[in-house]
Amino acid sequence: MITTYHRPQTLDEALNLLTQPNTVPLGGGTLLSQPTVDSVQAVDLQALGLDFLTKKGNDLEIGATATLQSLLENEACPAALKAAIKLEAPINIRNSATVAGTLVASDGRSPFATALLAMDAKLTIDHGPKTVDGQSSIVYGLGDFLPLRPHGLITAVTVPLNTKLAFEFVSRTPADKPIVCAALAQWNSGRTRLALGGYGKSPMLAMDGTEADGIESAARNAFHEATDEWASAAYRMDVASTLAKRCLGTI
Ligand SMILES: Cc1cc2nc3c(=O)[nH]c(=O)nc-3n(C[C@H](O)[C@H](O)[C@H](O)COP(=O)(O)OP(=O)(O)OC[C@H]3O[C@@H](n4cnc5c(N)ncnc54)[C@H](O)[C@@H]3O)c2cc1C
Repeated sequence: MITTYHRPQTLDEALNLLTQPNTVPLGGGTLLSQPTVDSVQAVDLQALGLDFLTKKGNDLEIGATATLQSLLENEACPAALKAAIKLEAPINIRNSATVAGTLVASDGRSPFATALLAMDAKLTIDHGPKTVDGQSSIVYGLGDFLPLRPHGLITAVTVPLNTKLAFEFVSRTPADKPIVCAALAQWNSGRTRLALGGYGKSPMLAMDGTEADGIESAARNAFHEATDEWASAAYRMDVASTLAKRCLGTI
């Protein structure tokens, strides 16, 4: 439950507020505004100008408070990433939910986090008020961020645009979150990353190689313990391998 609300006008002000105990960033608030027994102070990020979507060279820089819908509607957003965003949440939620809030709250079933993991997205995280030399931010690969979810204010997420991306999924209904999803990113150099979602606390990186050889067995191996109430590991291993092959065929 949010007991105190702040709307800072500058990043430094926000970072100072976030040093207080039980104080958390507020993105779109779709999760934070749900009733809970814990009381928190919320630091609303909406006045900080972090809702940008900027193409810079081979990258798309996405401000932390850009909404899922604004990313979906951006012409630089790859088609396969759009497909993953559409599966992440229905339009009313996409219009409020932010890119950073979604990644922080994501679990292994998140198609959005799975696609960004395949793309090797980078998160810029501010850990506090600027030091004397002006440095306070650290860049994390999403693959390092997800298992740890370190505290700090995400200010931007950067995705490469010089990759081809494919996304495939299987779910109970076309609008459900996937039971298995696969995202494959491939660079001109041949570098190939396969991320799998649909299970567990975070999506998994099944492969990061210099070529695509062995991708089906990498997909199969990654899910050898992936049993839960939705599906058995044996089912997920078969489906992941098929989806990986399908991704490779469409990329
Ligand atoms: C009714 C309902 C229930 C939901 N329940 C769940 C659920 O139980 N579990 C789940 O995973 N998703 C749940 N969701 C999905 C949730 O809406 C999405 O995860 C959403 O995309 C979160 O984005 P947001 O911007 O609204 O985040 P917010 O609700 O604003 O914040 C979510 C989390 O991210 C943190 N955060 C936000 N911005 C930043 C930032 N820039 N830097 C660092 N941290 C930040 C917040 O402090 C908070 O911990 C639910 C949605 C709805 C509508």
